[in-house]
Amino acid sequence: MIKVDNIAEKRVFHLRENESEPDFIKFKNEIIESIKNKNYSNFDTLKDNEYAKQFSVFIFHKKIQNEVSKITNPIIKTQLQNLNWFKVLVGSVEEIKELIRDNEYVLAQRNPELLDFKQYKDIFENLYKEQLSGNEKLKKQFFNLFEDMNVCPYCNRNFVNPIYKEHSLGADNKNQSPDIEHFFPKSIYPFLSLSISNLLPSCAFCNKIKSDVDTFQHNCLSPYEIKNSDFRFDFTLKSERVKEVRLISKNKNCKNSDILHLESLYNEVHSKYINDNLDDVLKYPRTYKDSLKKEFKLTESDYKELFRNYHDEKDFNKQPLSKMTKDLYNQIKNLTK
Ligand SMILES: [Zn+2]
Repeated sequence: MIKVDNIAEKRVFHLRENESEPDFIKFKNEIIESIKNKNYSNFDTLKDNEYAKQFSVFIFHKKIQNEVSKITNPIIKTQLQNLNWFKVLVGSVEEIKELIRDNEYVLAQRNPELLDFKQYKDIFENLYKEQLSGNEKLKKQFFNLFEDMNVCPYCNRNFVNPIYKEHSLGADNKNQSPDIEHFFPKSIYPFLSLSISNLLPSCAFCNKIKSDVDTFQHNCLSPYEIKNSDFRFDFTLKSERVKEVRLISKNKNCKNSDILHLESLYNEVHSKYINDNLDDVLKYPRTYKDSLKKEFKLTESDYKELFRNYHDEKDFNKQPLSKMTKDLYNQIKNLTK
């Protein structure tokens, strides 16, 4: 798992390709400031601005109000009407978790006595399809929020860059994009279907493997809230070979690795890569004699040359296997022999 930025600026997207108009920029900044200050009541004023209809948060808000009014079960309807919807749509992961805690009896699929859950779930499933996954313009702007992120934040293995076709030799001229993953599954928490802090680009494998496992009940950490130190790869070394890779979580109750089957994936698929890296380190000329005798420490440029990957945590989203490679280095550099 790799950390993904969830700052206020990364929670605002809109239909405009071009942001040069000063009044538009001013309005966008007001939205960002309101998110930073958790001033969600200010959105009630902002929603009447002439630019509001171009921003996802106000587009989604309006559609949701309309759809919620159609819900027939009075308990679900009242609970939904009482939600602070701007907080639902642009609040942080922490705020989303609070919303789950406060509303799970009625708004999460847990209470078998509650009738009509399906109607509520279908409504939000459709809203997500119509307003985001099937809305080419908004979807493109959503993915633009992640333009500095090349690799799936869950596995750190597969690329997730969208492809916008300009020409096609075949009849299919559709653009291709990675999956949009709901960290808290929309099948269990329909009201979070369009919450920006619940949405992440992911590779198709991780989206499928993760499926609709209840990440809230399994204490999973979202890429938006983790620190890269929350997880660490650990390598079992034997006769200058890496025999096994384990993914260790700081919090023992956190089930991210189990849900994504990461340990078996890394062991089965990447052991050659890991051992090639280790071989390179052992052969590294400048430090060959000293490397494993005393502390082995590379400069950033030496690291890039040797491992052909990024050294700094902030860049881990740019290249596959960057986190594992850095953890391998951290383990090797502390070896004494
Ligand atoms: Zn993935």
